Amino acid sequence: MAREAETHADIPFGPEDTPWQKTFSGLRVVGGRPYGTPPSSDPRAAYIGVPEVPHHKVQLPPTGLDAEQYTEAEALFRRHIDTQTRNFAGYQVTSALDYEERLGHYLNRHLNNVGDPYQSNSYTLNSKVLERAVLDYFASLWHAKWPHNPEDPESYWGYVLTMGSSEGNLYGLWNAREYLSCKPLRTHPREPGNVPVEQALRGEGPHVFHPVAFFSEDTHYSLTKAVRALDIDTFHALGSTRYPDENPLAPGSPWPREVPSTEHGAIDIEQLAVLVRFFASRGYPILVNLNYGSTFKGAYDDVEAAARTVRGICAEYGLDNRRVHRNCGKNSDYDERSGYWLHVDGALGAGYAPYLEMARDAGLVEQAPPTFDFRITDVHSLTMSGHKWMGTPWACGVFMTRTGLQMAPPRPSEYIGAADTTFAGSRNGFSSLLMWDYLARHSYDDQARLAAECDGLAAYTHEQLLALQEQLGQDLWVARSPQALTVRFRQPHADIVRRYSLSGETVHVDGAARTYVHLYAMRHLTRQRVDQLIGELRQPGAFAPASSTRTTAGGVREAQPDGPGADTASR
Ligand SMILES: *Cc1c(COP(=O)(O)O)cnc(C)c1O
Repeated sequence: MAREAETHADIPFGPEDTPWQKTFSGLRVVGGRPYGTPPSSDPRAAYIGVPEVPHHKVQLPPTGLDAEQYTEAEALFRRHIDTQTRNFAGYQVTSALDYEERLGHYLNRHLNNVGDPYQSNSYTLNSKVLERAVLDYFASLWHAKWPHNPEDPESYWGYVLTMGSSEGNLYGLWNAREYLSCKPLRTHPREPGNVPVEQALRGEGPHVFHPVAFFSEDTHYSLTKAVRALDIDTFHALGSTRYPDENPLAPGSPWPREVPSTEHGAIDIEQLAVLVRFFASRGYPILVNLNYGSTFKGAYDDVEAAARTVRGICAEYGLDNRRVHRNCGKNSDYDERSGYWLHVDGALGAGYAPYLEMARDAGLVEQAPPTFDFRITDVHSLTMSGHKWMGTPWACGVFMTRTGLQMAPPRPSEYIGAADTTFAGSRNGFSSLLMWDYLARHSYDDQARLAAECDGLAAYTHEQLLALQEQLGQDLWVARSPQALTVRFRQPHADIVRRYSLSGETVHVDGAARTYVHLYAMRHLTRQRVDQLIGELRQPGAFAPASSTRTTAGGVREAQPDGPGADTASR
């Protein structure tokens, strides 16, 4: 074994191709043996390469890099990122950022918003004062009751996420699972007495505390991950195991994994209704995720219609409002809650559509997507990513619900002096600062204008691609869902995919697999950049011949992980 380790220790390492074992200073070689393990094979061969940033230039030897090596490595990385930033067009994140001048100072400040945003503690290096301002801003934007008041169950509660909407979805589903089971609420429940006794007694049965989750086939992969992490049964899992031959959508065939969508990517409410009824009629509480700006097609679920449908069906089976006794019925003390939960995944849409609605009301655009927010009383929770519409240098976001729907945290947390109501322990306090900065510098008017411009650019891109399709005489599958910021089309050559960071997804249309890519008309994208892309797409060889839709190049795979493609592909 020792011999083998020695040969591996010869592997060239770092900017000077020094054998790994020689990269130690005398101080670090104690007793003739370098500290740590040598590489078991050449890491440069083990990982995906980035041609613009050669691996050896950025490898980290135990001595670190000297000033010259550092400068060269950092310059290579910088040039690469700056080039990719200029052409970045395939994801729903804004890459035109200008925080550095004002906020650079804070890179040397530690900001940690550990614990509940509304409770202060001895951990004074935090930005909760800004976090609360950001949360109030969104509470108003989303028509919630604000400010947050722990005594008022109708007022909102929320927090700024350390991850993006993936965390918001996870938190929303966790909250929903606990709420629909018989776990204790955080605050004093609403005054009991609104539910007639007969109704409260209905909806009892073996499944009363066994929630079942519904989401559409256009849902982001973070939902699949969340139900798995939280061990929540989806209608597919429950249907396939307990009612294998009873798929109500197509008797005799297997249960679908997700609720079917319409062609444009919005949840099919009629089919949702059939599925919800199947489980509500058997006494299962209902957990529905709705997408507001689906990842690939940018589609907006009709949240209001879905909410009306779910509530109506749940009411028929005593699941609209029910008494939940403490300790799963063993205690006479009870509160009243709905037997369903609607979570809205508004990663992009919840940050963008309110401004498009303002733009419509101001006559800047003709249409805006349907309502999604707390104006709909059945919306229980909502999440948005800060790095998508607003644009921040890293993932962040907002989760919001009503105070009366909050569940008790697992245990008190005296150490940090604030209730442990969030998922994280330490919580990134820089994100609140960034969002606060952005919102302080962009009025509603500014944002409505920006939203109208982006909507216009998406429409322009759509027209240009349709014209190209006409010109090439080839079906490029060009499509834009209503009011979507994204336009999708046939996947072009891998070089173009990589240059513009276009993300891809395979969609089944009439039984045939089609590999699409899409482009997002975010704030940083210009007509000029769109024209440049269209010019490249016009070149011979930009698209594979019509008969073949397979790609051979590797760049495409790299482009996928942020879309639901990865999930779809693995099925
Ligand atoms: C991007 C996205 C997410 C995940 O958001 P992150 O901020 O990447 O965690 C969830 N849902 C939808 C619809 C998205 O587009």
